[in-house]
Amino acid sequence: MWLDISIDFQPAMPIYPGDPVFKATAVKIGDLNSRVTLHQLELGTHTGTHVDAPEHVFPGTKTITDLPIEAFIGPCFVLDVKTFSLNELKRLPPKAERVLIKANNNLPENSSWLESYQGMPPEFAAQIIKQNPLVLLVGIDAMSIEEKSRSVLETHQLFLARDIVILEGLNLSKIVEGWYDLSALPLKLKNLDGSPVRAMLKKRDGEV
Ligand SMILES: [Zn+2]
Repeated sequence: MWLDISIDFQPAMPIYPGDPVFKATAVKIGDLNSRVTLHQLELGTHTGTHVDAPEHVFPGTKTITDLPIEAFIGPCFVLDVKTFSLNELKRLPPKAERVLIKANNNLPENSSWLESYQGMPPEFAAQIIKQNPLVLLVGIDAMSIEEKSRSVLETHQLFLARDIVILEGLNLSKIVEGWYDLSALPLKLKNLDGSPVRAMLKKRDGEV
């Protein structure tokens, strides 16, 4: 069974401060002004559950359509951490190429997420890169992977400088630690810096 770990697109959804808000406007309404119903969407490339490409923090580098599709789909390890202590990473299998960190439960569903979320310290990101040299994607159940207090986006920089995709805005509240198959494919937004995704997990029997 596939488990949906995306958040809903809706007007009250949590939005990063200063980012465009989500809006769906009916353009054609079946039985009223057309034979069909059709909406115009307004949203950012980082609205809701989404992926960051290197272009997001390093202009002129890789965009969504430059990244290998394998980054977004395949075996994945979910690590449930209470805090971002490096000790927690002892449970992360070194062969995991896709890693999701559960640190905030369902907080990304909450419009007040910014007040109390746990972002990933750069030391923790550096340790993942060190012990999992083949990692392709790192995700988190927060609307940003960066700690709130950081003026320099160090954790973003550490991952994106190595073309490691960042997956943000996950709801991992119903997911327990272990191996899964992940599917979190971006839209084919040519040469753009990020994309909303529909992210889902399916439990694997045993290890990879
Ligand atoms: Zn982002």
